[in-house]
Amino acid sequence: MRPIQARISIGAMAHNLRVARSHSGAAQVFAVVKANAYGHGLSRARRAFAAAEGFAVLTLEEAANLRLMGVEQPILLLEGMFGPDEIATCAELDLCPVLHHAAQLDWLQQQPPARPLQVFLKFDSGMHRLGFPLADHAAIVSRVRSLPGVAGITLMTHFAQADETAGVSWQLHPFLNELAGHDLPWSSANSAALLRYPETRGMWTRPGIMLYGASPYADQSAAELGLRPAMTLQSEIIGVQTLQPGEGVGYGLLFRAEQTMRVGVVACGYADGYPRHALTGTPVSVNGKMSRLLGRVSMDMLCVDLSVCPEAGVGAPVVLWGEGLPVDAVAAAAGTNSYELLCALAARVPVIEVD
Ligand SMILES: *Cc1c(COP(=O)(O)O)cnc(C)c1O
Repeated sequence: MRPIQARISIGAMAHNLRVARSHSGAAQVFAVVKANAYGHGLSRARRAFAAAEGFAVLTLEEAANLRLMGVEQPILLLEGMFGPDEIATCAELDLCPVLHHAAQLDWLQQQPPARPLQVFLKFDSGMHRLGFPLADHAAIVSRVRSLPGVAGITLMTHFAQADETAGVSWQLHPFLNELAGHDLPWSSANSAALLRYPETRGMWTRPGIMLYGASPYADQSAAELGLRPAMTLQSEIIGVQTLQPGEGVGYGLLFRAEQTMRVGVVACGYADGYPRHALTGTPVSVNGKMSRLLGRVSMDMLCVDLSVCPEAGVGAPVVLWGEGLPVDAVAAAAGTNSYELLCALAARVPVIEVD
């Protein structure tokens, strides 16, 4: 069998939820499990995050699957209904849709659900992606209050720079000040806001990436935040080459040896979800020692420097990210973030579930 596998730790995910819980204080937690739980599997996430007060997903299909799995907690539909045809299912599955544009209000008015919905009314406080303009709050809130299909309203916004020095206050304060008069519960915090800004907690927090053991910040590691990596992508050396000075390895011979050196070929490529944009120098752990990627990543293989581990041969264990090698370090070297790497884990990679 091809030696690549992803080990996913339910215990680490449950631990990370406890960290999110402790930062949430009296607020309730929506465990964000969109995108197949950031690549970790929806069913695993349901079990690992059973203690969460709610789950947040993107699609009706994800929500329906959670209900089939027995989830009884509230389920937040992060972008709400994509069309009027989704209203009935929202009611049947007892979902909490986010309402963020006027057409969604029209649909609800024209086709009120059999059972009124708890809705999350999203305002744009500066990210300029989804949400009603804050300036329109009076008219929007009063319209939504008057809809017969709406049982209750929670106000919501999302931060653009919670992970940067600009922070959240430039968005949070206008959001809270403008909407204070409505006296409604609210939700604002993603992982980056939750871990640094307790004032963003509100009634519901919405942690995602931290639950999977990655850091939302460039300047603070997941370990420093008390998080444990949930996914370890591992494989083995399946071939060894010796390069003479001047010889190259891989497509384009992008890496060339300066002196005689041993190169290990690892059974992991971009078709497994490893980033093709990773360059020579991207950290790879071989036989427990920190080595580096050499040259271009191929579809099914990549090459690593064996200079630091002369004992490593065919069969030597390799960690691409996870336990012992933070996914954030690999993402940084590949010019992306942990979210993209975790979500991109390919279906062909066998997953082994561990405690
Ligand atoms: C994905 C998402 C989150 C979770 O964000 P993380 O950065 O992964 O913590 C929270 N809120 C909304 C609206 C989202 O779409």
